[in-house]
Amino acid sequence: MRILLIAVKSEHMSLDFQLKCLYSTAASEDCLLEMKEFEASTDDDSIFGELLSYDCDVICFPCNVYNVEKVLTISENLKKAKTGLVTMLMGLEVSYDAPEIMGQNPQIDIIIEGEPEGAFLHICKAFSESEKQKVRPEQLLSSIRGISYRTDSGDILQNQEVPPLLIESLTFPYNYFEAEQDSTIYYESARDCLYTCSYCLESGSDKIRQLPVERVKQELSYFMYKRVKKVIVKDSIFNHNRRRAYDLWEYLISSDNGSTCFKFKIRTELLDEGTFSLLSKARSGLFEFEVGVQSTNRQVLNSVGRSTDIFESIDMIKRLLGLGNVIVGVNIIAGLPFDNFNSFKTTFNEMYRLNPHSIRIHLLMLLKGTDIRKYASVYGYEYKSRPPYEVISNRFISAEEIYQIKYIKRVVELYYNDGGFPETMAFMSAVFGETPFDFYSRFAECCFKSGLPQELYKKEELCRMCYTFARTKEDNMPGSLVNIKRLLAKDAGRVFDFDETKEF
Ligand code: SF4
Repeated sequence: MRILLIAVKSEHMSLDFQLKCLYSTAASEDCLLEMKEFEASTDDDSIFGELLSYDCDVICFPCNVYNVEKVLTISENLKKAKTGLVTMLMGLEVSYDAPEIMGQNPQIDIIIEGEPEGAFLHICKAFSESEKQKVRPEQLLSSIRGISYRTDSGDILQNQEVPPLLIESLTFPYNYFEAEQDSTIYYESARDCLYTCSYCLESGSDKIRQLPVERVKQELSYFMYKRVKKVIVKDSIFNHNRRRAYDLWEYLISSDNGSTCFKFKIRTELLDEGTFSLLSKARSGLFEFEVGVQSTNRQVLNSVGRSTDIFESIDMIKRLLGLGNVIVGVNIIAGLPFDNFNSFKTTFNEMYRLNPHSIRIHLLMLLKGTDIRKYASVYGYEYKSRPPYEVISNRFISAEEIYQIKYIKRVVELYYNDGGFPETMAFMSAVFGETPFDFYSRFAECCFKSGLPQELYKKEELCRMCYTFARTKEDNMPGSLVNIKRLLAKDAGRVFDFDETKEF
């Protein structure tokens, strides 16, 4: 039995890691497992064409809100082209209403609901047994928990839910895959989250499942040995358990190879004095922390079940940044209940003034199965009916305002985050707007009105755009253009040849 695992990659998600986890879970079974990854930018027809050449019995796609539509199209075409092919989907996006999805998409034979590894292993066993015993796989699928499947007669059956798997039973995926030097890889040391954010599908667990600390140390040491560039730890909140986080961070500091960076999602209010003192000893760039602030408005936070003391949280971000050696990124969300345009603007400005290494603006997604979607009408939500179910408007913010924030998000990603143009942005936001938000708002408007959005991924175009914007301000702010030219050359000089930057 040949099973092909396919990742149709998408922004933000670690699908290739998910494939590796599935592969390593079932690698010792009597199935021939293969993996294939496609970039998000690859068009449906090219993926379809390439998959046609694979000789396989089962195709299996992990899905999320970003790739599900593409996966449904490709799987439909493949099913028509290859008689007898079994198609299997998995992932939270298809878990909540699996039988309905199968009803609407006759090409789908099996959906794994919830955590995929356990059911995937049993499905692989069932397929190889069915080959040996010469029985229809359908007879063996009926006992596998956590799946919906289609019978030979076309009925869709949903089996009992699967209990959470024992995390210790997961195999270290890099037993089967080499972590390459200078690559960015994903890793997972724990699952579940104790917090109860109403827009999140991972919320509300009563306990967290964690790999034993000694095992995590051993696995992380492999990445240091291989001199991987960056390890992104997927755990929803790494420092839920302060003692464990301290122990692991201490280990990474003492075993530092001088080059690998480890990225964690953390809650800053869980950091204590001892941890700050420990972190201050880390090599600059050893740790990168992602902090979900979401909003600085208490009413907004309370409405989505985040009972954070926001002042304490901001204070802790300041302290982390003050250490000078830890990379800190903050996340904020637009479109939350009670968050109008002005209060979002306040959140942005408060975060910007902290001067973190990145500010990620997310638009609220009303995901299937979340509380916020269940109670959408209470807040007057309008949202896109197709994935990723982004907010369009609610009682507090209009569609136009959300769209304006979307433009700003793009410009912040391009110009501020991950190195961007720090000196130019610091200068421009200080002189061209009453607040940073006002500046980014005007700048975003200029960028998108100039009709250049398609080109903005190129650094040269980014410089040119800044310069164009600055020229429109020169009359009101004589001399600013000269400064901007100098700063742009400096920022861009980190990326280009000096000669190339002269033209700006
Ligand atoms: S948003 Fe983060 S903190 Fe909130 S429930 Fe989800 S994983 Fe936990």
